[in-house]
Amino acid sequence: MAQKTVLIVYAHQSGGSFNSAVKDVAVEALRQQGYEVVVSDLYAMNFKASATMEDITGEVKNPEHFKYGEETMQAWKEGRLSDDIIAEQRKVEAAELVIFQFPMYWFSVPAIMKGWIDRVLSQGFAFSLQKMYSNGIFKDKKAMLSFTTGSMQTMYRPDGLNGDINVTLWPLQNGVLHFCGFQVLAPQVFWCPGHSPPANRTAMLDGWRARLKTLLVERPLTFAPCELFDLTFPGGFMLRPEVMEEQRTRPHGITTGHHLGKPLPPDNQLKAEG
Ligand SMILES: Cc1cc2nc3c(=O)[nH]c(=O)nc-3n(C[C@H](O)[C@H](O)[C@H](O)COP(=O)(O)OP(=O)(O)OC[C@H]3O[C@@H](n4cnc5c(N)ncnc54)[C@H](O)[C@@H]3O)c2cc1C
Repeated sequence: MAQKTVLIVYAHQSGGSFNSAVKDVAVEALRQQGYEVVVSDLYAMNFKASATMEDITGEVKNPEHFKYGEETMQAWKEGRLSDDIIAEQRKVEAAELVIFQFPMYWFSVPAIMKGWIDRVLSQGFAFSLQKMYSNGIFKDKKAMLSFTTGSMQTMYRPDGLNGDINVTLWPLQNGVLHFCGFQVLAPQVFWCPGHSPPANRTAMLDGWRARLKTLLVERPLTFAPCELFDLTFPGGFMLRPEVMEEQRTRPHGITTGHHLGKPLPPDNQLKAEG
């Protein structure tokens, strides 16, 4: 049987950083469990972040009005994506779990990692109009965010200065990972290592090391499955009426995004249910 693989997509400029230490802990712990661990060190690779015509080998169909999504889908079908994209797509195909390791930048991933998402998770390879969310292409794979913040944890509470971290994480966890079908594991958040005493930083790394022992058997976060929606054009891809009726008396929304005007289900983007 082929060795099981974990891919770490890693974005930090410095080998002395806390992110680097977090990445090293994961590499060591997962290798000890017998996993092959592949690291895409995006800054070291000088990974191209911009989605451009150069991502396609050979002629593009419409250079006057270049449509990146359509052209890359065609190029993917014809095996004409650029070598750096194909290499990353092969790593994703081989991986049971993909870990995105990064410092939070502007409530999101650093640009170089966004470029990896834009270019590698291309239409056809990572999603199609038929295969998305719970019907998505990568539904047998897992993915997760592991990141550091500059802000303290309290600042990301619903009553904190930055606002609810569940809202911050929704676009990446639902709009990218779950959209491609991945089972999304709870994020690993390292709150504010830059202003934490050394002992707290060591404790954070120890906590991560402990979690890694059973990471691959964790239950994923809950998202709204496709079956809840009327996936037809007349139905507008909206919640089915009987689902709306069923939800009417529930105290919380379904997910952070599908809140239905009600309080968010507590920690929906931070913890698996029950
Ligand atoms: C463009 C930009 C946008 C940003 N946007 C946001 C935002 O939206 N929200 C937000 O919260 N923050 C934001 N930040 C802040 C950013 O998220 C933090 O600076 C970052 O997460 C800190 O992680 P680091 O790995 O760079 O820490 P580092 O500064 O590298 O490390 C922190 C400390 O850990 C120490 N360390 C390193 N290795 C170890 C080890 N093995 N054991 C113990 N200690 C160790 C380091 O020496 C250092 O003292 C932004 C920053 C930038 C530049």
